[in-house]
Amino acid sequence: MDTYNSISICHIAASIARALGARPPEHAAKPLNALSTLLKKGCGCETADRVLMYNPDAIAMWLFQKYTDYFLPVLEHTQLALPLRTVMPSVTPVCFGSLYTGAMPHVHGIQEYVKPVIKIDSLFDTVLRSGKRAAIVAVGKASMSNIYLERDMDYYICGNNAEVNEKALDLIREDRHDLLVVYNGNYDSASHKTYPESELALNALKDNINTFAGFAEAVDKYWKRHNVLLGFATDHGTHKSEEGNGAHGSDLPEDLNIMHFYGVKPKS
Ligand SMILES: [Zn+2]
Repeated sequence: MDTYNSISICHIAASIARALGARPPEHAAKPLNALSTLLKKGCGCETADRVLMYNPDAIAMWLFQKYTDYFLPVLEHTQLALPLRTVMPSVTPVCFGSLYTGAMPHVHGIQEYVKPVIKIDSLFDTVLRSGKRAAIVAVGKASMSNIYLERDMDYYICGNNAEVNEKALDLIREDRHDLLVVYNGNYDSASHKTYPESELALNALKDNINTFAGFAEAVDKYWKRHNVLLGFATDHGTHKSEEGNGAHGSDLPEDLNIMHFYGVKPKS
């Protein structure tokens, strides 16, 4: 039985906007009550003053099902595990387009593997309009370094993954942004180069999980004064192609079913 998750990735943008006290992006699907309930229970109010979105690429839901024990460091820092259905075609710029605008691909305009600047209203735009500061940290060729350019926010375009994660830790320490978005594409690259469950790919998966846990620990240390929402939020899944490599883009549960994990850390 091919079961697809019922909640669309398009509900996340408005949920994060609401968590930051901003209006939903103009074309976004409605916010999820699960996120505001999480905040209310965790910090006693429905808004956070810091959001850290960690975006590892291509972490399929089946990876969580099959390698659940790997994810324990993510589970330790989060309280909500949310099964989501991403959009078609399930490739990176299309999916991150929908994640941060809350709109379907025909509305945000990226409907294939291309990386133009998205012109419609996004989470970044609404957060900036509400007077807050936002930043994206990613490697230069990544979709996330390109499709949300031309906003009055900070972009940290790095040469490799290690630099991205070092810069992200610096930014957590400096505590200058209300919304901090960090992209890691090393699992996706390893999976394409080999296959989704190769040693190289599974090591990249573990690396993504440990990176998130490291950010969460830095948040504990440097963002003590804030109510914080943390997200481990991927874009799409992956499957093994007939040629034997990691692939995605298809209308398959392996590509469309993903899990997001959200956690709240109340100020102390
Ligand atoms: Zn991707």
